[in-house]
Amino acid sequence: HHHVRYATAEGVEAVVDTGHVHPEAILWQRLADYRAAGGYRLLAACREGSVTVEALSEELERAGLRGLGGAGFPTFRKWQAVRAEPGPRYAVINADEGEPGTFKDRFYLEREPHRCLEGALVGAWSVEARALYIYLRDEYPGLHRVLAEAIAELEAAGLAEPGYIVLRRGAGAYICGEESALIESLEGKPGKPRHRPPFVAQRGLFDRPTLVNNVETAYWIPLIHEQGADRFAGQGRHGRKGLRSFSVSGRVARPGVHLAPAGITLNELIEEHCGGMAEGHRLLGYLPGGASGGILPAGKADIPLDFDTLQEHGCFIGSAAVIVLSDQDDLREVATSLLAFFADESCGQCTPCRVGTEKMLTLLEREHWDVAMLERLSRVMADASICGLGQAAPNPVLSLLRDFRGELEARQLIARG
Ligand code: SF4
Repeated sequence: HHHVRYATAEGVEAVVDTGHVHPEAILWQRLADYRAAGGYRLLAACREGSVTVEALSEELERAGLRGLGGAGFPTFRKWQAVRAEPGPRYAVINADEGEPGTFKDRFYLEREPHRCLEGALVGAWSVEARALYIYLRDEYPGLHRVLAEAIAELEAAGLAEPGYIVLRRGAGAYICGEESALIESLEGKPGKPRHRPPFVAQRGLFDRPTLVNNVETAYWIPLIHEQGADRFAGQGRHGRKGLRSFSVSGRVARPGVHLAPAGITLNELIEEHCGGMAEGHRLLGYLPGGASGGILPAGKADIPLDFDTLQEHGCFIGSAAVIVLSDQDDLREVATSLLAFFADESCGQCTPCRVGTEKMLTLLEREHWDVAMLERLSRVMADASICGLGQAAPNPVLSLLRDFRGELEARQLIARG
């Protein structure tokens, strides 16, 4: 942890250790260094009025910046939607980062907390937020200390009113990364997703219009302004715009956070950024978006990893957590461990998810899979669950049944035919 390399828009490669880091061991960019490098100039320009919300929104639109937490909603539109509602409004940074395989937010917060905070404060400014809440994953105790110190630095420098930025510890629940559950949790209630509409942009925290942004989305705002929207947009590949931070884990030679062009394919990502497959492993398939984004076979490793293309293949990029599977991975284990995760993390509020995840786990543990039953159950869960957890929980199983028939047959999980 003593060799810190900054991930920048130039695409400097960086590998993060995903294990536990003692708070003392985290080397982060202090306020003075960030300011010396031009940090907080955008925030100052916004507050003075030399940069307007309209101008900055237009830059973000041109850059093609979309929410990097999972939903992929254009950032400037989110700003607009919240601004259109009457004040007072709130801003929230989602730093819950609970999607299995995702560790990019931690990567940026650990290195450049002030760039993340500047982006967060600019977002808060854009909706004239009364306060900015940061909801930080409780499993990141080292980061809690980093952020508390960084916020204290800002207050001491007069860049944030004392108390304006509120740092909150998450509840250790996956579901609290879902924005309406996160807001319930911030309000001190159990983290259960709300029915929508109304959306949090209309009625969020304390029933007020609320802007919720992911850490990485905030991180890019000052960089895009500094370096220009066109430069950011120009770095995509296969007709896509911008850069993405892929959290890569599994059977590659170099797992970690890899900053790569949006639209890169899995084969390219593995070859150019991950040092190839781990020795002795042959690509079998991959999860493009953590536990909820489905599973794709090796034969589909040359499609652009982006929101729209993956959706055509029944998958989601989510927060770009790529988990690489090899011929040495057992597909039943992959499916059962994902379903066990969803069953464990289900908040229990609705039956299709609470009972469905448990039932599916039981079905997957049978010697032979009942395909018709698995498909029927998947449909009920996808159609009738209140939130994304229950809706997406069948995705891994549906993916396997769709794209891994040969493998499942070879392993005698399903009958040949
Ligand atoms: Fe809770 Fe699952 Fe229903 Fe979501 S789908 S509200 S996690 S029970």
